[in-house]
Amino acid sequence: MLNFPNYLDGYFFDLANASAESKVLSTCYIPCVMLHKTLQVQHAKQLKITTSVRIPAGWAMKRMRKRILVTGGAGFLGSHLCGRLVARGDDVLCIDNFFTGAKDNVAKLLAHSNFELMRHDVCMPLYVEVDEIYNLACPASPIHYQYDPVQTTKTSVHGAINMLGLAKRLGAKILQASTSEIYGDPTVHPQTEDYWGHVNPIGPRACYDEGKRCAETLFFDYYRQHRLSIKVARIFNTYGPRMHPNDGRVISNFIMAALRGDPITVYGDGKQTRSFCYVEDLIEGLIRLMETEESLIGPINLGNPNEITVSELAIQIIASAGSRSKITYHPRPIDDPMQRQPDITQAKKLLEWYPTITLEKGLAHTIEYFRDFKE
Ligand code: NAD
Ligand code: UDP
Repeated sequence: MLNFPNYLDGYFFDLANASAESKVLSTCYIPCVMLHKTLQVQHAKQLKITTSVRIPAGWAMKRMRKRILVTGGAGFLGSHLCGRLVARGDDVLCIDNFFTGAKDNVAKLLAHSNFELMRHDVCMPLYVEVDEIYNLACPASPIHYQYDPVQTTKTSVHGAINMLGLAKRLGAKILQASTSEIYGDPTVHPQTEDYWGHVNPIGPRACYDEGKRCAETLFFDYYRQHRLSIKVARIFNTYGPRMHPNDGRVISNFIMAALRGDPITVYGDGKQTRSFCYVEDLIEGLIRLMETEESLIGPINLGNPNEITVSELAIQIIASAGSRSKITYHPRPIDDPMQRQPDITQAKKLLEWYPTITLEKGLAHTIEYFRDFKE
């Protein structure tokens, strides 16, 4: 029995330019083992093949593992996602430039043979072979994304172009981690996916908001123009272990201050609202969205509709941490949205997904995690 050459494992194979031997091999073996639909269709047409076809890694193995790329995989959400996918048995390639992420976040995963970590900036093209891409690379907290706003926009826009280009070459499915920030300071409440948003295009948050909006545009244009298989998730405020302790986001700031006994810094009068989703719930939603049939492209809101004011949150965190911190009031940042609450009707209906972890329980886990960073 002939063996398929090892060096082709995981690479593109151009049948039009392939050697006669390889063509024979591919006609013998590929239809048996390949699930790649392009090839199946083309093979049925008597091998009138002119385009590249993909040879999945480990094709000879009985069980086909999915090869999944997670960009921004060493960050808060990315590291939890990588953990879930590795545990499920997929081959996970995590890429990150470590701007806000950390190797520590994925250190435990490095012991698994089905996990790989690569330093890479999504603003540069990437040549790897995968079946699915979760595009999470982008700083998410206001102080981080405003630190180098030009780089933030580049990460969203050039990063999306590079990852969409990769997905197009591979025929891979690609999911974009979009954000509730695309709704800006919303005039519709709660926010439904058909709301176009209210974003200041020239303010300090615009590098993130408009970058993410442009990324969504690119995803939908690749879908319309190139029939790419896309999924767009609009993620609302998410929290949990592995958030950066100094990222300036409200939950990490309040918990760190409460644990240290420092004043809790409420911006404005604290009447602005957010709706906080625990990380485990969110990751479940992302994976469910990726697993849906091709026609389901989103955008789809993922978040916890349990809305709370920033002042109420401060009180709850002080109580949960058993802290004596006092609340102090500071000016509200420019363009800080006044209210935010996801309408998750679509997620419930199409993904059969809704958050299950209460704020009380999620905060307890998160506070325990942050105790190690107190000093
Ligand atoms: P995070 O900052 O912890 O993670 C982002 C990761 O991307 C980091 O590891 C960072 O080093 C990496 N990164 C940044 N620029 C990069 C680049 N140019 N190339 C490669 N890697 C790069 O933030 P997070 O909270 O985990 O957010 C992950 C994604 O989810 C982001 O795209 C964010 O916009 C989106 N999101 C998060 C939330 C939230 O509440 N956490 C809400 C809405 C959307
Ligand atoms: N916020 C606050 N004190 C802080 C950090 C944030 O009052 O120390 C407020 C902030 O002004 C905003 C809300 O908490 O109204 C959520 O801020 P965060 O940066 O976490 O998320 P985003 O504004 O991006 O939703």
